[in-house]
Amino acid sequence: MELSDHSRVGVIGGGPAGSMTAYFLLELAKSIHLKIDVDIFEPRDFSLTGPPGCNMCGGVISESLVQKLAISGIHLPNDVLMDTIDAYTLHTDHSNARIRAHTEEMRIACIFRGGGPKGAETQKPLPWQAFDQFLLDLAQKQGANRIPKRVKKLDWDHDRPRVTWGEEKTQTYDLIVGAVGLNGAGLSLFEQMNFGYKPPRATKAYIAELYFGSEEVERRLGKSMHIFLLNIPGLKFLALTPKGPYATLVVLGENVDKTMLDRIFRAPEMVQCLPHGWKVPVQTCHCQPKIHIGPPHKPFTDRVVLVGDCSSSRLFKDGIGASYKLAKACAYTAIVHGISKQAFQRFFAPTCRELDHDNLLGGIIFSLDHLMRPFSLVQEALLDSVRSEQNDPASPKKLSTALWDTFTGSASYRTVIANTAHPDIVIKLFKAILRRWLSRRKNG
Ligand SMILES: Cc1cc2nc3c(=O)[nH]c(=O)nc-3n(C[C@H](O)[C@H](O)[C@H](O)COP(=O)(O)OP(=O)(O)OC[C@H]3O[C@@H](n4cnc5c(N)ncnc54)[C@H](O)[C@@H]3O)c2cc1C
Repeated sequence: MELSDHSRVGVIGGGPAGSMTAYFLLELAKSIHLKIDVDIFEPRDFSLTGPPGCNMCGGVISESLVQKLAISGIHLPNDVLMDTIDAYTLHTDHSNARIRAHTEEMRIACIFRGGGPKGAETQKPLPWQAFDQFLLDLAQKQGANRIPKRVKKLDWDHDRPRVTWGEEKTQTYDLIVGAVGLNGAGLSLFEQMNFGYKPPRATKAYIAELYFGSEEVERRLGKSMHIFLLNIPGLKFLALTPKGPYATLVVLGENVDKTMLDRIFRAPEMVQCLPHGWKVPVQTCHCQPKIHIGPPHKPFTDRVVLVGDCSSSRLFKDGIGASYKLAKACAYTAIVHGISKQAFQRFFAPTCRELDHDNLLGGIIFSLDHLMRPFSLVQEALLDSVRSEQNDPASPKKLSTALWDTFTGSASYRTVIANTAHPDIVIKLFKAILRRWLSRRKNG
């Protein structure tokens, strides 16, 4: 079962996973002089500000992903890469420590997925370009045909998948790529095809674009991403990222509600990062998207494959990097090895498995972090060790690198665990805990 000249591919969803898969399919097909037709179904206009143009994300990508994309021919322009972050500040309930990127590859870039937060349309022209629009345009330049419609139904026309959209328009395809993300009804379309697909496990998150103005963002946050390890019940991850005149707040937790948000905005470490006397404006652009926390079931069959968030992703970070990996693996399999279930099992599934297995280790790291939060002694010792590494130019930055990788997604969770379990780090942490304990005893 293979693609041949004039085979038709339908990509459902034009977020990063859909656009990159279309791009790589067409690029690889061209390289072997195969002429395929690729349609991308995407109803959203990413040039719009606020929810209509936005695929709801923290908008942080690692420099290493920017470089991988460039190697694959996807050069992100400066107006897509809004700000470069070269440090992150780790806040606990008691103090903070700043960790600088010690190589250029470790920096992180910030993007807006759509036209920007609600209200940004008053700035004309917008000083940034939407990341998702850039990728969709790139796929179109490569030859994809964009259909600006929502797919309503997927079924089978004999052994081939069929798409229904708009006023009952239908088209049968040789291959369907599902890239519908986690938000919206797109997932059930694939469940209804009855090949055994079950969507990934997901939980709700919270994002808000806080308008401070560029000067206050620079003053309060600098070129640093701020990560808060606060002992608030149910809180798993909290970050504030500078993005032009905005600070993007991302909250992950068991039940992110008004009570949790009130506690977050009252926490002294958070208050330090907000402009003096600042209160969250009522009209702040915010959303509660779903975030991927567990693998899907059977994300492929003959002539159908799912990529991006509706397939396998990375736990709590680097979802765009995971979409890139799956898009490449999917395109390579379809063009080189065919579009049968067996081909996807053999050449696409290993990339999914690698992400799924790594997330198990990520789960352990986040559970340890959570367990550690009520123990201020351990948290303070951790910050002491980070500070001593940062203040000593000759010190190897092992702990700083492990923390950087955990919070930015620059490396796999396996690498983070391998690096953190290094005897040097364990001894350093143990000594720091002992020192803190002795100093507490001395001071009563
Ligand atoms: C709180 C939060 C913070 C995050 N922060 C980051 C971050 O900082 N960095 C990072 O790398 N990742 C981050 N992610 C993850 C990232 O957002 C996702 O991994 C990424 O968006 C996945 O891309 P995708 O193309 O699979 O799905 P999406 O981006 O969701 O795109 C799916 C597309 O499919 C379209 N679609 C849906 N249904 C249909 C249909 N029936 N017909 C046609 N089109 C349809 C939608 O309109 C949409 O455009 C974050 C996620 C959350 C929830």
